[in-house]
Amino acid sequence: MSSDYLKKIYYSSKDKINLIGLDYEQLVDSLSFFGEKKYRANQIMSWLYQKNVYDIDCMSNISLSFRQKLKEFFFINLPLVKSMMKSKDGTIKWIIDVGSKQSIESVFIPELDRGTLCVSSQAGCALDCAFCSTGSQGFNRNLKSSEILGQVLLAKSLIGKEKKITNIVFMGMGEPLANYKNILPVTKLLVDDRAFGLSRRKVTISTSGIVPQIKKLSKDCNVALAVSLHSANNSVRDKIVPINKIHPIEELLEACWLYADSTTSRQITFEYVMLDGVNDSKKEAKSLVKLLQNRPAKINLIPFNSFPGTRFRCSEKKVINQFYSELRSAGIIATIRKTRGDDIDAACGQLSGEVNDLISRRLSNRPFRQDRYSSR
Ligand code: SAH
Ligand code: SF4
Repeated sequence: MSSDYLKKIYYSSKDKINLIGLDYEQLVDSLSFFGEKKYRANQIMSWLYQKNVYDIDCMSNISLSFRQKLKEFFFINLPLVKSMMKSKDGTIKWIIDVGSKQSIESVFIPELDRGTLCVSSQAGCALDCAFCSTGSQGFNRNLKSSEILGQVLLAKSLIGKEKKITNIVFMGMGEPLANYKNILPVTKLLVDDRAFGLSRRKVTISTSGIVPQIKKLSKDCNVALAVSLHSANNSVRDKIVPINKIHPIEELLEACWLYADSTTSRQITFEYVMLDGVNDSKKEAKSLVKLLQNRPAKINLIPFNSFPGTRFRCSEKKVINQFYSELRSAGIIATIRKTRGDDIDAACGQLSGEVNDLISRRLSNRPFRQDRYSSR
């Protein structure tokens, strides 16, 4: 029997394959190469994700001869933690080495009733949102499935037995839907009972709005979706979320409502970063209400987190509260996100790791930043 997956990956690269991050179908497909039955995939997943055993030789219910065969084609490797920082509010940030002198970041946010892990999907980000520290670093590469899932495994082993990861959000560095091929097996493993067994509502993909991939995800693995809207007007959104020029608000929302329809009673979360004088007026709030009223939507207002070199400022607390009240009085479900871990630069949009930018853009020479909002 032959295996398409193994053939494609192994024979094209001649490298061994990391077992971490292969979803059930990929694993079954790969193992069929050896004429092995499906239950072998269950056994391997149980060792990796339930028993946290990362050595093929220690998988004791697998015969010695099959372990030898496995080792010819596969290996197990987790990324290395370079350093760890702990905020005074309990938030933990790990800086993780992904080779070539580059690093990415993941963040664990403990709360009374849950523990949220925020993972990165790319080294940098090419989408260049104006208010984002990751975007300002440029882009190097997509993270592999093993590097994305590796963040979960590392965090699980480092947070200590008394804490638990109950929620995973793809809100670290990078645009997850621009790395669709590698995030898909990870999301499948997170909701797979043979691996992590999280509920689909507890795994959230956050996207700045890559419409074709939103549609694909609704069919492939419809976990919770968060969309970085940040303005209800195309003219403003074009300037702060450049992908809007390719997929404007109307197109994005159409995909969102389709996504919500494809799941039972699921709401889309719209993220809205509060930028002083940019998107925080009463008029903007009213436009937002018009767009989202009577839709399966909730809004998460995010106070802007500053980073060196940015020209944006966070809206005043009073303004954020007024914006919030405007939404609530129109019957829209809204929350104001509590800033966590900002003393260790672990808050939303502050993650930057170390990225060798291949696009060679810098804060100062990005054309559409030059004149933006300088009148404020
Ligand atoms: N690329 C994805 C996910 C990573 S960013 C996305 O854009 O959705 C996670 C969230 O942090 C997004 O909502 C993003 O808009 C927000 N964000 C980025 N920079 C920020 C900053 N400086 N302050 C507050 N939120 C920020
Ligand atoms: Fe990329 Fe998201 Fe930052 Fe935009 S906000 S640059 S999509 S990481």
